[in-house]
Parts: sequence; structure tokens; C-alpha cells
Amino acid sequence: MELQVVEQAVAAASDKTCEGKVATYIPELGKADGSRVGVSVFSRSGERLSVGDTKTRFSIQSISKVISLAVALELCGFDMVFQNVGMEPSGDAFNSMVKLEYAHSVPYNPMINAGAIVIASYLARRISFEEMMRTSRSLCLDPDIVLDENVYRSEMSNISRNRAIAYLLESKGYIEKDVEKCLHFYVKMCSLSVTAESLAGLGLVLANDGIHPATGERLLQEQTVRVVKTIMLTCGMYDGSGQFAVRVGIPSKSGVGGGILSVIDREMGIGIYGPALDDKGNSVAGRYILEYLSEKWHLHLFDNRK
Ligand code: GLN
Repeated sequence: MELQVVEQAVAAASDKTCEGKVATYIPELGKADGSRVGVSVFSRSGERLSVGDTKTRFSIQSISKVISLAVALELCGFDMVFQNVGMEPSGDAFNSMVKLEYAHSVPYNPMINAGAIVIASYLARRISFEEMMRTSRSLCLDPDIVLDENVYRSEMSNISRNRAIAYLLESKGYIEKDVEKCLHFYVKMCSLSVTAESLAGLGLVLANDGIHPATGERLLQEQTVRVVKTIMLTCGMYDGSGQFAVRVGIPSKSGVGGGILSVIDREMGIGIYGPALDDKGNSVAGRYILEYLSEKWHLHLFDNRK
């Protein structure tokens, strides 16, 4: 792990941010500075490298789907979680509802909005948002995570599409009553404010099979972590997941706040901030950085040069 390589990756990616645009469909996100880039790499051996805007707080957005899935697996078990949510990449945009209309079609996976809203409905009945926030702090090794009230309000006032998805899911019997409570829970999880460092912390806990790297405390069951990492690999980058898996080969999850969480199994966690997004909603800088690091450090899952 050489600092110089991370610096080169950030420099190269900074030149590419002009190819993307910050998300504007949640007005509060439109205020972000698209030229920002930061990367943190936390290794299992205790090394920590941070370059660029790694302490800037931004909303976790869809990366919260990883935390919600993990907690739902712990609280409800595998069979119940996957009763009303699938495990397949959708090939559609994260907020698409087109396939939901088909008879017997459950949301494709827990990483798209429809699937995450089903997961939120399981959670909202079992655990308070405050408890989820505490769990997020401990999984991200970041005691300073809070709810970004501005993002939360901004998203709630532009919630029509997610509300439509949620009521369609209710009409099909995939989520139980109190759709509004479930939507608030989902949006609050998306509005947690994190940094690139928090995401590297979460990546490290997942790379370490759910064990806190410093205290040795088990935070998540091994089976939970295995499921989460597999779903990240196949579905974590929305409808860009296939191409990302081929080119980068690192289980990752992106969010429209500009974050990417990546897990190099048994080795390290990587957290990225780069709010300029491509047309699929993935951080442009993040993609470049991960491709660069994957090539330099042979991080692709199937790279046999390791
Ligand atoms: N809060 C966003 C939404 O529900 C999260 C989407 C994302 O990060 N892709 O639309």
C-alpha cells in the first residue's frame, strides 16, 4: 500500500470529474462541489491512508442499503429477507419500477430502491432509527455519524417516485401497512452523513468478516457478511454492476451523494468521495480511482498476479 499510488489515483481522477454531474433530483445534493475527490484506505494490518477530501461529510444515500441489509439479515434471518426481495441484478436504474408491475415480480435485489424499501419495512417494525444510527456508527468505526436534517427534508419533499414504489409494493403485499413510516425510515437511512473515512471503516469491518479490527468484537455474523459482499459484487453499482465487476472486480456499493464503499476481502476497506456522477448514478472519480488501484495493487477478485 503505497501513498504515492493513492495520490496518483486521486490526481488522475480529479481531471475526470468534469465528465460527471452532481445529483440534482434531491435539491440539497445539487449544492455539492463536483470537483471534490477523496479516498481512504484502511488495511487489516492497521495502516490508514487518506488523500484529498476524506473528512468532508456527505449523505450516505444508497450505501445505507448495505447496512440495512446486514441488520435485516441479523434480525430476520436469510429466508425471511429473501422471501420478498430477489438476489439478481436488475439491469435497470436504481429507482426503476418497470419490472415491479409484472405479476409475481418481487424487487430484483436489496440494492435498488424497491428492494431497500421492502427491507426498510422489515426494519421499521423491529428497530428504531436511533438504534440503526448507533449500529451505523459502530459498523463504520465513526462515532460522529448523524442524520443530515437538510438532506432528509429535501428528499422527503421530493419523494413521489419512492412513494409510488412503496405503495405499489404494498398493493402487491410485499410490505406491510404503515407505508409512510417505512418511507421515513428508508429516507433517514439515506440521509446519514458519512465521510470517505467512515466508508473505509465499514469496508474494513466487512473485509474482516464482521469483526471490529481493533477490539476483536464480532459486529456481524460471518454468514451475513458473506451475503452482503456477494450482493455488492453483483448489484452494488446499479445497472453498471456488470461492467464494474469486469473492469474493477471489487465488491462495491455506490450512492448518489458521491460515495463508494469497497471491500478487498481479508485485506482492506476503501472509502471514496466524489460527488460528480455518471449517467448511472456512480461517482466518476470513484470509478477511475478503483480501476487504478485495482490494476496497480492487483485487487481484482480474479487477478492471479497476487
Ligand atoms: N435516496 C436516494 C433515493 O432513494 C438514494 C438513491 C441512490 O443513492 N442511488 O432515490
